Amino acid sequence: MALAKRQTKWGHKGLLEVRAFLFAYYLRAAMQNSDDKLKKIISHCKEYGYVFPSSEIYDGLSATYDYGQYGSELKNNIKEYWWKAMTRLHENIVGIDAAIFMHPTTWKASGHVDAFNDPLIDNKDSKKRYRADVLLEDYIKKLEAKNDKEVEKAKNKFGDAFNEEQFRATNPNVLRNQEKINTVESRMKAALEASDLVGLKELIEDLEIADPETGSRNWTEVRQFNLMFSTELGSVAGDAATIYLRPETAQGIFVNFLNVQKSGRMKIPFGIAQIGKAFRNEIIARQFIFRMREFEQMEMQFFIKPGTDGEWYNYWKDARINWHKALGMGTENYKFHDHLKLAHYANAACDIEFNFPMGFKELEGIHSRTDFDLGNHEKFSGKKLRYHETESGESYVPYVIETSIGLDRMFLATLTYAYTEETLEDGSERVVLRIPPALAPVKVAVLPLLNKDGLPEKAREIVDQLKLYFNLQYDAKDAIGRRYRRQDAIGTPYCITIDHDTLNDNCVTIRERDSMQQERVSIDRVREIVEAKVSMNVLLGKLV
Ligand code: ATP
Repeated sequence: MALAKRQTKWGHKGLLEVRAFLFAYYLRAAMQNSDDKLKKIISHCKEYGYVFPSSEIYDGLSATYDYGQYGSELKNNIKEYWWKAMTRLHENIVGIDAAIFMHPTTWKASGHVDAFNDPLIDNKDSKKRYRADVLLEDYIKKLEAKNDKEVEKAKNKFGDAFNEEQFRATNPNVLRNQEKINTVESRMKAALEASDLVGLKELIEDLEIADPETGSRNWTEVRQFNLMFSTELGSVAGDAATIYLRPETAQGIFVNFLNVQKSGRMKIPFGIAQIGKAFRNEIIARQFIFRMREFEQMEMQFFIKPGTDGEWYNYWKDARINWHKALGMGTENYKFHDHLKLAHYANAACDIEFNFPMGFKELEGIHSRTDFDLGNHEKFSGKKLRYHETESGESYVPYVIETSIGLDRMFLATLTYAYTEETLEDGSERVVLRIPPALAPVKVAVLPLLNKDGLPEKAREIVDQLKLYFNLQYDAKDAIGRRYRRQDAIGTPYCITIDHDTLNDNCVTIRERDSMQQERVSIDRVREIVEAKVSMNVLLGKLV
């Protein structure tokens, strides 16, 4: 009798949860206020073991964070997705792991000693420091957002008959804003290209840009600030011993170009991928893990024949946006943005921007770096860094297309998409992390309904069967509803519940995170059901 009762209750609860889900789905959009979303993500990350402020017991260190037990798993999964997409899905891409410290001449050759600067400006009243180019970019973004709003309004008004292109070309408000955007962009580009710091200051003043936090317009002059951290090697002080913490991982790839090409008998076109830490003494390091001074990059340099750069640049733009979109985090959340000012090494460059809580911002850069880096390393090292083409007998310094994505920004993009607050039909609330299942830190939670009557032992058996395949969590504490909520908050795609019936019929209840749908299945099928959803190979399969 007790068994029958529990079954009815379970069935009913499952139904309730599905209805609640539908209700919650409609409430979701309204509930989320993007202004405080970043704050909510930060506190969720701390509460649930994703990200902690670094050295917190000493009150933390500005813009420095530690990844916790779930955060490091998520990071590893993102890395795996990127690494395999690069090295397994492309026969002609291999990976390396170069040292963080490099010979100091590397950074002279790469241009970082002379040109890795940001234009900084201080507000005299608030004493806050900003990047002058970022203040201007934010100004442009505000105008773009105004235009998007106008378009949205008109779209709603005219419905199917709406022609966006025509509207943008004729609406006076949109045209006025667009003209302003063009003027600001061209003045900013000219000033940045000429390193005209006075011009940048003038532009900020002409546009009456104020300190975003205090509204003050009392600015200092604009100054250049080099972003590299330097330190000393060994015990000898002085210039000769000054070395830098690498500000990008790319140079470790360039200096190893010939080592890899020769030892791997690589033929052009080929790529070298690397994941590793990079360090930049950022002028402003705010917005959580979006901009840090110590961060991790996933970079790939693709070596090509000069003259094929346009073609390969487009190839990598497509390949990279497809990599992002395969995760299912909303195609509307990505945008390409062409660089206004090209870096000293590039002849074409764009960013893939993601819709972060602070708006669309750079997530990844794709750069056509010409032969700048290899050419300069040749000059500075005196060593030939050329590729000899056996078929044609030609010898040349290869051109390079680079794809460069910040692992921490990818982490933040994932959480931005995933973090969802829902009000269920019964009025209760749940926070769920809808992390793409292949990236989720824990794939399955195994939950004995009660912590007695042989249920924990049965649950442990299941853990033993599955632990070789998935990262699992066993949890027998608290009421089942609370345990579900805990797993939702961590982003676990599946919960498996073991009840008294399991001991007789060898079946468990499997609950899916996003729909909260529950199904009774045989234990033998659990692995296959979970695998179909969480497998990295299934995700990678979308790219081939
Ligand atoms: P930004 O304009 O935001 O400073 P960037 O153009 O200097 O970025 P790149 O040099 O192209 O960045 O670096 C490649 C990627 O590394 C960026 O797309 C970003 O994801 C990541 N990245 C760069 N700087 C940081 C940082 N300070 N903290 C976290 N990630 C970073």
